[in-house]
Amino acid sequence: MKNRKLLMIPGPIEVDPAVLRAMGEVTTSHVAPNFIESFGNSLELMRKIWLAPKGQPFIIAGSGTLAMDMAVSNLIEPGDNALVISTGYFGERYKNILTTYGANVTVLQAEIGDTVPLETIEKELSSKNYKLLTITHVDTSTGVLTDPKSIVHLAQKHNTLSILDGVCATAGEETQQEAWGIDIVLTGSQKAIGVPPGLALLVASEKAMDTWKNRKTPVQNYYGSFTNWLPIMQAYEERKPSYFGTPPVNLIRALEVSLTLIHNERIKNRVATHLQYAKAFRNAVQSIGLQLVPKNNEIAAHTMTAIYYPEGIDGNLFRKDIAEFGVILAGGLHAEIKTKYFRIGHMGAITKSDIVATLSAIESALHKQNYNFEFGKSIREFLSYFA
Ligand code: PMP
Repeated sequence: MKNRKLLMIPGPIEVDPAVLRAMGEVTTSHVAPNFIESFGNSLELMRKIWLAPKGQPFIIAGSGTLAMDMAVSNLIEPGDNALVISTGYFGERYKNILTTYGANVTVLQAEIGDTVPLETIEKELSSKNYKLLTITHVDTSTGVLTDPKSIVHLAQKHNTLSILDGVCATAGEETQQEAWGIDIVLTGSQKAIGVPPGLALLVASEKAMDTWKNRKTPVQNYYGSFTNWLPIMQAYEERKPSYFGTPPVNLIRALEVSLTLIHNERIKNRVATHLQYAKAFRNAVQSIGLQLVPKNNEIAAHTMTAIYYPEGIDGNLFRKDIAEFGVILAGGLHAEIKTKYFRIGHMGAITKSDIVATLSAIESALHKQNYNFEFGKSIREFLSYFA
């Protein structure tokens, strides 16, 4: 028997075997010609996948939170107004990061499972001068998808910079950084980018870079300052050796492989596949009476799904049974509903059969707790979507 469980949480995710093999290659010097080539190539691929040909990419050792931290600390100066559009746990994190760097923060908080109405955002942007706003593309605590395009359009009208937290979205949800005018799109390697955890990735627009260049006060962050990292990114792209902090060479080789896979598939197709799988998965779980945390399917993410336990189901037991079946799912994260729901990641390199295996595990675990439903129905529903 294979002693391996299927990892179906919203990050880290199952990664392509070619990516894992790249991780296992001999560790090289950070200034070796082959590594310089990998780093430079990865930066170029990011521009293509982010759809930001004029953007400035950064690849830094750290988690997604570092990318969030860098986006804010390089743009915000003490006393600036910042607006957080929050659909859950990670909006709250953005508030805390902004506060750390001295911003005056206003939070527009959506109800659990909902988004913030555009009119509310428009009204708030009109009320004072906001330097920037933050959007969580998919809030991993609620599975709610926010439409960045229309919010960024409003932000531009008010001359407000936009930061998109794409940690649970980039390369899985449609994002056109340059066409939509998003100033920073950031993520971590362990989600739809398809690499093990450990890399903070972000692309900054020309306007974001100009804002940073024209700061009146120094960046209040040493490790994450563009001042330290921009020359390094530029050197790698020019295929020249450079050093500020040692890059995680194996992870960056893995990133190059994953970005190449995504680019070869074409980002448009990659996003379309996420959309299809998510819709089919949603149909499947809804067909057996399960209720999603997002209030309707239009605002449900395509990279993950958050589902309430049905009445009378013991969540801990449910997830334990699922693990025994060979699948790992995540429990709740949002403090107010933590024990009432569970989360499934379906992004990156996963296949239809991974989803079928997940549905089998969910059905088996529900059946064990005498949940009343037609056994096998969700799997039929999922398969019929593609038939
Ligand atoms: N934002 C979102 C939307 C996330 O899902 C996560 C991680 N779950 C983060 C930020 C933080 O990323 P990390 O855990 O890699 O620091």
